[in-house]
Amino acid sequence: MHRIERIYIDGEFVAPHGQEWFDLHNPSTEEVIGQVLLGDAHDARRAIAAAKAAFPAWSRTTREKRVAALKRMHRAVVAREDRLMEAILEEYGAPSVRGRWMATYPAAVIEQAVEVLESFAFEEQAGTARVIQTPVGVAGLITPWNSNAGFICNKLATALAAGCTVVIKPSEMSALQTQVIAEALHDAGLPPGVFNIVNGRGDVVGEEIARHPDIAKISFTGSSAVGEHLVTAGAATMKRVTLELGGKSPTVVLEDADFASVMPLVLQAGFANSGQACIAGTRILVPRARLAEFEQIAREAVSHIKSGDPSKADTDIGPMVSAKQWERVQSYIRLGQAEGAKLLVGGEGRPEGLHRGWFVKPTIFTGATNQMRIAREEIFGPVLTVIPYEDEADAIAIANDTRYGLSALVLGKDSARCERVARQIDAGRVLVNTLSHEPRAPFGGFKHSGLGREMGRWGVNAYLEPKTLLMEAGGSRR
Ligand code: NAD
Repeated sequence: MHRIERIYIDGEFVAPHGQEWFDLHNPSTEEVIGQVLLGDAHDARRAIAAAKAAFPAWSRTTREKRVAALKRMHRAVVAREDRLMEAILEEYGAPSVRGRWMATYPAAVIEQAVEVLESFAFEEQAGTARVIQTPVGVAGLITPWNSNAGFICNKLATALAAGCTVVIKPSEMSALQTQVIAEALHDAGLPPGVFNIVNGRGDVVGEEIARHPDIAKISFTGSSAVGEHLVTAGAATMKRVTLELGGKSPTVVLEDADFASVMPLVLQAGFANSGQACIAGTRILVPRARLAEFEQIAREAVSHIKSGDPSKADTDIGPMVSAKQWERVQSYIRLGQAEGAKLLVGGEGRPEGLHRGWFVKPTIFTGATNQMRIAREEIFGPVLTVIPYEDEADAIAIANDTRYGLSALVLGKDSARCERVARQIDAGRVLVNTLSHEPRAPFGGFKHSGLGREMGRWGVNAYLEPKTLLMEAGGSRR
């Protein structure tokens, strides 16, 4: 049994003031695997005070010193990769291929922040003025349970690169990953107070961060509902906010596509991370004239998808993170049928042969309309919705008829046509015939998928305020 009873404040692991124990589960077995002692608002205030005290010195460090600190962080996180992998599998059930990526990603994003920092222009000339990019202050970083370690490292490395100090409120469901990362960061020997980590509930620790006047900026990854709340809560203290929120991303299959060859991309995009991915391609737009052909190839392809033990190398889909999430996904499967969509594969209940664990059958609805709730709301499980379209203009209109705009995938043979369609989709990222990732490019969403961007120089800029310096011509005469 794991027992996590310390939070991290001012360079030390300390006992929280909060007294609530929270159970951690293995979603593949439903068993309780440990407990974490949660911090409270008092702990959040202590962490904010420590970060505030550390800010003046850290914000004035040289680029070289920050690069050296990030490189130490990188080495310490790399050394924990295997422990991180174990934590990811145990507390969250990511299938092992995805889990391995998630265990290496935290170190990779720190390396990425180093690369950006090494060449970042903190000053530039604008006409007669000098523009100086100045760290905004103490940042509150709030992360979700899907890829908690990666989000902590990305946000932290970027904030530190910019010269900010931070308070991190990780997902309370990801305490094992948080503990591995906290130990690594402690070993990296950063100055006390530069980063602080408070396990706790969103409506307690998160809320204190969202309202506290000494927090200048919030970087949040999570649901759109909480993101919208953070904008409102932060307005009173005029917080800067970066929000990475939900999605209902379209996969646009063009008329000239070879369905058999694009199907692996369609399914990987939709079922990524067991469907628990913000970027998942969950609305599949298919030309009506070829719908039957698409359905037949999709049904056959899904029959080869394996759900179950995430530690097995050939598992494609692991469990949902919690009982609540499992129930929620089941309710959407019922809803889709009630709304009149046709169940092509999957359905309610666990996949065959699985009697425990929060596993969901890979499910595809077809013949749906874009107005159905299964086409409009983020389900966050392996449930996809096929929506037929009439022509290219109709496909683009359906793709954009959503409150979200995080990601999109366009599939087809004619790359000029694919690009033409891609350019008309309102999303932070549009992929054409690939699922590749470019960490140097900005990442974030249009509309309710977020506010601002992370990654690359766009990510660092989000922790900076431009300060314009105008000097009297000819130097000082007073
Ligand atoms: P969530 O919004 O429930 O929780 C995210 C974090 O916010 C947690 O740490 C939670 O404790 C905290 N929180 C909850 N209420 C809060 C409050 N009132 N004040 C401050 N903090 C609060 O999301 P989740 O279920 O953990 O994660 C899944 C969601 O995250 C999905 O909607 C998914 O699309 C989204 N997500 C987005 C991205 C992206 O980059 N766009 C990436 C991953 C996940």
